[in-house]
Amino acid sequence: MKLNGLTIRQAQEKLETGEITSVDLTRACLDRIKAVDNKVKACLTVCEEEALVEAKKADARRAKGELGDLLGIPYIAKDNIMAKGVKMTAASKILENYIAPFDATIIKKLKEKGAVLLGKSNLDEFAHGASTENSAFGPTHNPWDLERVPGGSSGGSAAAVAADMCLFALGTDTGGSIRCPASFCGVAGLKPTYGLASRFGLIAMTSSTDVPGPIAKTVEDAKIVMDAISGIDKNDATTVNTKELSSEASELSSKRVLKGKKIGMPKEYFNEGLDEDVKKFVMKAVNEYEKQGAEIVNVSLPHNKYGVAVYYIITPSEISSNLARFDGIRYGFSDKESKKLIDVYKKSRGKGFGPEAKRRIMLGTYALSAGYFDAYYLKAQKVRTIIKEEFDRVLKEVDCIITPTSPHTAFKIGEQSSDPLKMYLEDVYVTGASLAGLPAISIPVGFSRGLPVGMQIIGKRFDENLLYGMGIAFQGATDYHKAKPELK
Ligand code: GLN
Repeated sequence: MKLNGLTIRQAQEKLETGEITSVDLTRACLDRIKAVDNKVKACLTVCEEEALVEAKKADARRAKGELGDLLGIPYIAKDNIMAKGVKMTAASKILENYIAPFDATIIKKLKEKGAVLLGKSNLDEFAHGASTENSAFGPTHNPWDLERVPGGSSGGSAAAVAADMCLFALGTDTGGSIRCPASFCGVAGLKPTYGLASRFGLIAMTSSTDVPGPIAKTVEDAKIVMDAISGIDKNDATTVNTKELSSEASELSSKRVLKGKKIGMPKEYFNEGLDEDVKKFVMKAVNEYEKQGAEIVNVSLPHNKYGVAVYYIITPSEISSNLARFDGIRYGFSDKESKKLIDVYKKSRGKGFGPEAKRRIMLGTYALSAGYFDAYYLKAQKVRTIIKEEFDRVLKEVDCIITPTSPHTAFKIGEQSSDPLKMYLEDVYVTGASLAGLPAISIPVGFSRGLPVGMQIIGKRFDENLLYGMGIAFQGATDYHKAKPELK
């Protein structure tokens, strides 16, 4: 197998025995990007020279005896995460030429561990979307079928991992943006518990649900990355001290991980609107868990049906406030022709933001305005609490909840982009865990007409270890995660 096709675990073994160097690995990824990214369009920026310098440094650290799961491992970060000195656009014209002045905490942590940043990946502008078609720089193409979307908003990251341009990638998820593209591209994507990893240095979207997380070739790799980027950060008051959290990590390697575990199957996630093939493969995966000793329990989450409605009140509200800082003065694009200050604001924002960002600013400003606050924003927050309590109640009875990640497989580019409401409904299975702050992972569980099918496992707060255990157990018994797209 080509070096860029390795998992983190496989590459690490070869690095440790001296069979390969980080420079070899990094070159293989850069060559792959050159060979296929003209078709996939996953990357917005490639830092070729800097990556090779970092790879050499990692090799030197190893030569001095240093070890580490991520030492010398090349990766790509979503372009709404800051890496010092590297362009960061958030796929928006308003930040087209913006150079990040410092490292996001998660980038800093990866640098310290010796991971090698190859470049920045495409996304829906400001992470608003479920297909990566909202990027101001054009859509990313799904490596499994170039006429289809990779999912979104971290579509570039998922496509890059699926096409072996890197060993792993970073995404962000406020309402499905890691899980949806992971599902459409046939890779593993973890949205961690809210607060497990720092948001410092990420472009703020929906601050109350935002989390950064890994997109990787296997669940084992996703765990390695998540462990590296999590932890308390003085720059993000919502982060927690992970050292104090209980750990069932020892269970991970044991075959008994599923014995006696209860898996909740919410009936509301398996009714009309769900593609038959997606349902079939998710049920097949659940049967595999049953075979391995888990108990299946029917559960109900009746308020989930309000998840999308609640999310699309809260999200635009927070967005309208977070995007207010892009005023044409402090960051990025500024309209030079305007003479009056008010015109600078209006023209810079008018020309800089794309249609979806504008739509959300307007929706959010409306929902937060004096006469409508109680009817929309406050009401949505109340229903959010009910959704959260409902999850907590069910998760007292079961260890985790299994659902499809998306109602169907990847759709064609252009098929839904003219209908924002339809696009919002893509998030029907993923907004719940975001609103409740719960961890959720998407793993590939089958193929329907050549396109990957994703399954979502939702866990208790800070119980990522169970999700890893479940994912590793499934990937130990099946081969779906090993399939590679032909990139025709
Ligand atoms: N589809 C969601 C949205 O458009 C995903 C956003 C996200 O998770 N960043 O809001």
